[in-house]
Amino acid sequence: MADPGTDFGRKPFEARPFQVMAKPNGPRCNLNCTYCYYLEKEALYPATKSFRMDEAVLERFIRDYIAGQDRLGGSDIEFTWQGGEPTLLGLDFFRRAVALEEKHRPAGKTIRNSLQTNGTLLDADWIGFLKEHGFLVGLSLDGPQALHDRYRIDRREQPSFDRVMRALALLRDNQVEFNVLTVVHRHNARQPRAVYRFLKEAGVTFIQFIPAVERVRDVAPAGAAPPARGEIAAMVTPWSVLPEDYGDFLCQVFDEWISRDVGRTFVQLFDVQVGLWAGAPAQLCWFAETCGQCLALEHNGDLYACDHYVDPEYRIGNIMHAPIAELAGSAVQARFGQDKLDTLPRCCRQCEYRFACNGGCPKNRFVPTPDGGAGLNYFCASHRQFFAHAAPYLKAMAALIHRGRSAADIMEVVRHQQLPAARAGVGRNDPCPCGSGKKFKKCCGNAPSPRAALVSNRSSD
Ligand code: SF4
Ligand code: SF4
Ligand code: SF4
Repeated sequence: MADPGTDFGRKPFEARPFQVMAKPNGPRCNLNCTYCYYLEKEALYPATKSFRMDEAVLERFIRDYIAGQDRLGGSDIEFTWQGGEPTLLGLDFFRRAVALEEKHRPAGKTIRNSLQTNGTLLDADWIGFLKEHGFLVGLSLDGPQALHDRYRIDRREQPSFDRVMRALALLRDNQVEFNVLTVVHRHNARQPRAVYRFLKEAGVTFIQFIPAVERVRDVAPAGAAPPARGEIAAMVTPWSVLPEDYGDFLCQVFDEWISRDVGRTFVQLFDVQVGLWAGAPAQLCWFAETCGQCLALEHNGDLYACDHYVDPEYRIGNIMHAPIAELAGSAVQARFGQDKLDTLPRCCRQCEYRFACNGGCPKNRFVPTPDGGAGLNYFCASHRQFFAHAAPYLKAMAALIHRGRSAADIMEVVRHQQLPAARAGVGRNDPCPCGSGKKFKKCCGNAPSPRAALVSNRSSD
C-alpha cells in the first residue's frame, strides 16, 4: 500500500475524491436541540444578519463543484444540502439550485441531491418538489416520542416529535426516498431494541446512528492513569452517550439486525463494517485510515475541513477566491486528513481491530490511552465491545461475500444457531462451519464466541 504522504506528492491531491456538505442557511434552525453542535457557529459571523447563501455564492458553488466532480470521472454528481435547517430557505431557493445544476450539468452526467432536515417544515409542496427531482431526504428522528422529545425541542421548548412523524408519513406515503438519522444520546442508548423496532415499524429501511458526545473538560492530563467509569461521565455533557451504553446499544441492535434484517434494513454502521471485514475500503470516514474528503461549506463560501471542524483554524479558504476542487485538494486539507493517521495512538496501531476502526473520528479522541498517552477515542470501549460481539458474524458474512453469496445468508445460520452450535464441536484445524473453506482457527475460531442466545431479555429494553 502506498504511503499516503508520498502519494500526495506524486499525483495532484486535488484529483482525489471529495464531497461537500453545503449549509446554504448556515447554522440557522427553527429547532434548538440540546445536543446541537452547530447552532453556536453563528458566533463565527457576528456581523451577519442573514445567513442566506446569495445567488453569486450559490452559482459559484454549483458550477465549480460540478467541474471538480466531473474531473474525477464517474457518471453521478451528488450535492448534499444541510444546516442548520435548509428548508427555512423556502422552496424557491432549491428550485433555483436545481435550475443552476441543470445549467452547469455536463452532457452524460446525472446530478443527484440529498437534503438533511428536521422535517418540521415539510408539506405537500415540499414533498412534490423532492419527489419530482429525486432528492434523497435524511430525516432526524431519535426514536419513540419520549426519547425523541427528550432533546429535540424548538426555541419555545416545545417538542418536535409529532411534526417529524408527519413528515415521515408524507415521505413514506409519497415514495420519496428517505433515510433516518438517529442521534444516540444518554437516554435512547439505554433502549436499543425499542428504538430500532420503532424505526422499523415506522417504515424506515435505512438508518444512520450517530453517537452524541461533547467533551466538557479533561478528566486527567496526558500521562495520567486511564479514567475510571465515573470519571468518563464527568468528562462529557449530561446528554452525551456513555461508552458502555453505546457498546450495548450497538450489540443489541446488531443482534436484532443479524437475526432478520440483513439486506432488508440498511443500518449504515453495520453494513460499513461488513464491507470492512470483507476487505473493502471504509465507506464511512470514522473508520477510514485517513479522512478529510468531506468538507463543509458555509453560506458565504467559506470552506472548512469537516462539518465537525467548522472553526477558524480549519477554514481552508473561500470558494469565491479559489475553485472548490483546488481548496479541497490543498496541502492544508491533505494535512488535516493525514493527521488522523499520524496521531493514531500506539494502542490503536497494535489493536486487533485497527483495520475496522482506525482509531475512530479524531473529534472524539480525547481520552487517555492505557499507557498514559493522549488521544484515545472516547468510544474505544464501545467499539471493542461491538467488534468482540459481532466478529464471528462479520467474519462469516465476509466469507459468504467472498464465495459470491449474499451476506444476508447469515440469517439462515443465525436462525438455526448453526454457527454457535457448530463451534462447540469443531477442532481448531477443522474446516470452519461458516463455510469459508479456511481452518476454524484461522477463521471464526479466531474470535470470541457469540452469545449463546442472540436475543437477550434485558430488562432495560
Ligand atoms: S435540527 Fe439539527 S441543526 Fe437544528 S438544532 Fe437540531 S440538531 Fe441543530
Ligand atoms: S478499538 Fe480502540 S484501540 Fe482499537 S483501533 Fe479502535 S479506538 Fe483504537
Ligand atoms: S474528522 Fe471525523 S467526521 Fe470529519 S472527516 Fe474525519 S473522521 Fe470524518
